[in-house]
This record gives sequence, C-alpha cells and structure tokens, in this order.
Amino acid sequence: MTIFKGLEDIVQKDFPLGPMTTFGVGGKARYFVRPRTEDQLRETIERCGKKKLDIHAIGRGSNVLVRDEGVKGAVIQLDTKAFGRITIEEDLLRVGAAAPLPKVVAEAARHSLSGVECLVGIPGTAGGGVRMNAGGAYGDIGQTVERIKVMDAHGETFYREREDLAFGYRTSNVSARFILEVELRLLPDSVSAINKRMKKIWIAKKNSQPTSAATAGCAFKNPRGLAAGLLIEQAGLKGTAVGGAAVSRKHANFIVVRDKKKTKAADVLALIELVRKAVKDRFDVYLELEIEVWP
Ligand SMILES: Cc1cc2nc3c(=O)[nH]c(=O)nc-3n(C[C@H](O)[C@H](O)[C@H](O)COP(=O)(O)OP(=O)(O)OC[C@H]3O[C@@H](n4cnc5c(N)ncnc54)[C@H](O)[C@@H]3O)c2cc1C
Repeated sequence: MTIFKGLEDIVQKDFPLGPMTTFGVGGKARYFVRPRTEDQLRETIERCGKKKLDIHAIGRGSNVLVRDEGVKGAVIQLDTKAFGRITIEEDLLRVGAAAPLPKVVAEAARHSLSGVECLVGIPGTAGGGVRMNAGGAYGDIGQTVERIKVMDAHGETFYREREDLAFGYRTSNVSARFILEVELRLLPDSVSAINKRMKKIWIAKKNSQPTSAATAGCAFKNPRGLAAGLLIEQAGLKGTAVGGAAVSRKHANFIVVRDKKKTKAADVLALIELVRKAVKDRFDVYLELEIEVWP
C-alpha cells in the first residue's frame, strides 16, 4: 500500500463492495478509502491521479451495481460523521454530501421547511442524490439546490451556483469528482402539512414498490411518454428470475436480489439483458439503465 503511505487508517485493500450497496452483491474494490477531512480526500485524489488509478465516489450505493470482477481503482466514500452534518439558517438547509437523504427529509420537516418531501423513501445520500437528481413524480432535489461545494480531479474545491447547474431526469451537469456539500433553498410551511404530504408519498410508494427488498430502485429509465415498469409487466416478466435476481412482482421496474449470498452481479446483469430483449422484441423500445453498473 505504498501509494497510500500515511493514510493507512482510512484505506482498506481488496474491500468487498456488495455490503456497501443496497443490492448487496458484486466484487471488491482494490482500494476503499473513507476520508474524514477535505485534506485527506485531496491527498487521496492526488495520489490516485499520480498512479493513474480510477476513482469512484460512492454514497449509499443505492443506485449502483458492482460487477463480480470488482473495481480496479479506488472507491471513495466520504465519512458520514465528518461529511454528513446538516445546519439550518432560516430557509436554507446546508447539508454535507454524506448525509442520508432520509435524515435531510426529517430535518427539513422538523424545522417547518418544505421542498424535499419528494425524497421520501429514497435511501441515498445528499451527494449521490444531487449527482443523480433524485426524485420522481412529486419533484426532485434539483428544484431546491441553491449551490454546491465540489472538489475536482486536481483536488481543487470551489462552489457551483444555481445559475450554472442543470438538472434533468435522473441527471445533473455536475462533473466534478466530489460533491462535498449541498445547499437547499426550502419554503416555510406547517409541520402538519409537510408531514401529511410525506405520509401520502410514503404510502403510495409502500403500496406500489418493494420498499424493503434488496434493490437499487428503478432499474430502467422511463422511455419518453412511457412507463418502463408497465412495458416490463406487459411483456409478462413479473417474477422472472435469473439465479437469485428477479423482476419484482410488486413493481416490474424493480429488480430484487432474493438471497445476497446466492446471487451474483452477473445474475442481475443477465436479467437486465433478458428484460431489455423481451421489451425490445415486443414493443420495439430500448430500455436505458437508470442504475449504474461499475466499472
Ligand atoms: C428502495 C429504493 C428506492 C429508490 N427510489 C428512488 C426514487 O424514488 N427516485 C430516485 O431518483 N432514486 C431512487 N432510488 C435510487 C437511489 O437511491 C438514488 O439514485 C440516490 O440518489 C443515490 O444516492 P447514493 O448516495 O446511494 O448514490 P450512489 O448509488 O452511491 O452513487 C450514485 C452516483 O452518484 C455518485 N456519487 C455518490 N456520492 C457522490 C458524491 N459525494 N460526489 C459526487 N458523486 C457522488 C456516484 O459516483 C454515482 O455516480 C431508490 C433506491 C432504492 C434502493
């Protein structure tokens, strides 16, 4: 580990990534680094750069499938305690990138601030949420972002303001390596009205999605004007399985891992291809992935 000399307490070699993702399957990271300060993160990025090691930022791993071969470079996860603080100034929520979205939602509600109820039931972090523009039918995080603090591939930190940020359907134009902090501009509202909206969204999700299964949320993006889940269901694929991976019977756009120990990432990938082929053959529609496959 000479490359990380002096940083041994935050680096682990050949680290299993499955448990770091909500799917719970997949291979190892050659290096897994959990920086506790910006300096440690900068140092890690610089050393990886010198050795030409690929870098992957991971939040809660709730939108990622890691291949069984694993990741040759370094997977970096900001330490939750150090990078997960939430502070509130009037209607501005300043959130560390490692803060879990459920905590962001709860803190906003507790302080009578509305705008992030749409994130109810999304298990990611603020950083991953902004990168992916997490959200859905009720809105997305991008609508509330005022500015973000980022670190680029050279270890430089700077702010990006709302004017130069663009958010689309599960995408953003944030290209910097790391989001460090996110500022969300919210709207004052009564706690009871906010809680009512959150409850409505939660019930709708619980009724229609396999919320407690090992998944990474929706596997595919909705093609323009169509619902991926409906296409998959109409292709007769609910319950279809490859190894321990199956198309959820509750919501056909969710792939669930039934038994993490007996399931390979390759099973999930094979199921993805099976679904794609069936939907293409039946409806002539190519389904684009919403989840990311690493590497
Ligand atoms: C049960 C369930 C329900 C879900 N429901 C929804 C939903 O309704 N709507 C929705 O949009 N998504 C949903 N998801 C998917 C997922 O939770 C979101 O995409 C979430 O935003 C991912 O956040 P994360 O921290 O887990 O990111 P990860 O999965 O760890 O990473 C996702 C991407 O973000 C990047 N990233 C992570 N952290 C950082 C950082 N600090 N700086 C820069 N880049 C970073 C990663 O490199 C990767 O490219 C669901 C997932 C599950 C398991």
